[in-house]
Amino acid sequence: MRIAIIGAGIAGVTTAFECAADGHQVTVFERRGSVAAEGSFANTGLTTPAMALPWTPAGLPRPGAGALGWQWRRWRAERNKDRAAQQARLLQLAIYSHARLQELRKRLQLDFEHAHGQLLLLRQERELRGIQAQLDLLQSLGLPHQLLSAAQCLAAEPGLNPDTPLFGGIQLSPAELGNCRQFSHLMRIEAQRLGVRFRFHTTVRSLTPGSVVTLIHEHTVPPEGLGAPTRQAEKQDAGDTQPAPLGPVQESFDAVLICAGASALPLLQALGLKPAMGLVHGHTITAPLRQLEAHPDLGPRAGVFDLGEQISISRIGQRVRVAGCVETGAAPQGFKAPKLALLHRVLNEWFPGAMQVGQEQRWIGCQALLPDGLPLLGASGQAGIWLNLAQGSAHSLDWPLACGAARLLADQISKRQTDADAPSLEGLDIKRLA
Ligand SMILES: Cc1cc2nc3c(=O)[nH]c(=O)nc-3n(C[C@H](O)[C@H](O)[C@H](O)COP(=O)(O)OP(=O)(O)OC[C@H]3O[C@@H](n4cnc5c(N)ncnc54)[C@H](O)[C@@H]3O)c2cc1C
Repeated sequence: MRIAIIGAGIAGVTTAFECAADGHQVTVFERRGSVAAEGSFANTGLTTPAMALPWTPAGLPRPGAGALGWQWRRWRAERNKDRAAQQARLLQLAIYSHARLQELRKRLQLDFEHAHGQLLLLRQERELRGIQAQLDLLQSLGLPHQLLSAAQCLAAEPGLNPDTPLFGGIQLSPAELGNCRQFSHLMRIEAQRLGVRFRFHTTVRSLTPGSVVTLIHEHTVPPEGLGAPTRQAEKQDAGDTQPAPLGPVQESFDAVLICAGASALPLLQALGLKPAMGLVHGHTITAPLRQLEAHPDLGPRAGVFDLGEQISISRIGQRVRVAGCVETGAAPQGFKAPKLALLHRVLNEWFPGAMQVGQEQRWIGCQALLPDGLPLLGASGQAGIWLNLAQGSAHSLDWPLACGAARLLADQISKRQTDADAPSLEGLDIKRLA
């Protein structure tokens, strides 16, 4: 089959790889100059399956007067009687996906920055009660986790500041984090080895469904400084952009997969699809770890998540990344000083002096989110058009699901029998939103 993929974030590159591995002819259309240039650029990098769950202790607060319809839907979805079953489905996909990531890494010898370990830090005992439902779910699916005392947390992460009050922690397993952008670039190379063509600086304008899908795209170069916060640090790979005709170009494909992340909505709406998709954005700061011979354990060894503050601190190679301040809505034009101050405060409470702040890189990432926090995977209901979107939970996590979702979607498109141990995508497609 001739397959087009719209978007070269983590969802797009992994799906391109899997479709090409099945023998399809794949073209990826990406409006930016390289892969992982938007939502997959500088995220926390957690791939721990359990982190696909929302680790919000007290649930979402009831929206106030003037809240958007989407916020009410999200609040109601948390109280849905099928919530536990939905979360279990999400975790099963994350477990499968984690195994697929390990398999790909081993088979393709992918060498990307990564670290093992994920600790949820509980400042107070009541935070433990607030996440009991999530812990019970992990237990029921056989995902190991361990309650640690404060002393055990310090043993697991020796760089933690012993003066910051700590009740204890939860150690998750299997637990891993890594450099999502680097992984996306490696998967792009592997996809290209299988024959995938990448068309950068090419925006898909419209799709016409059918047994043959018509796709109209246009060569576009983003003007300097556009959307400054998310684009500041982007580096363009030399030779990515091929000469292209000016104006709209029409091409036909047997199937098209929309993996356009936070910008998928206009394409969906033009097809008459109107999922109640909202946007969330969050800040990250990244800087080299300070190296002090007398304090070899400055900074985190792997990932820690401050449950009360909802902030992640992760080790990315020789750097430390702090992420959080997730809010609804599109990314603001510019970094918000109070958000950056909060990230610095939490980092300094747990790992004082660990970051070389003079070399700090800032990022604001935006992603799509459905009210129930589940991804949108599978057939779109429009002939020839498939969706791989919104893999974020309330916590905006995507990578834990990407490799598994890509494999299962490739199976569906090829009408291939999935592995006997693979979870079903049933209940994760657009039909549930009808
Ligand atoms: C603060 C923060 C922390 C996060 N932490 C984590 C984490 O720890 N672990 C994790 O797994 N996830 C995390 N996430 C979420 C994760 O970063 C994103 O959900 C994920 O990277 C989205 O991947 P994607 O491929 O769906 O979208 P994107 O990476 O945004 O890719 C979509 C691509 O489609 C392109 N595109 C859109 N429209 C068109 C069009 N019409 N034509 C051509 N191209 C188009 C865009 O240019 C873009 O490159 C975090 C997010 C934030 C904000």
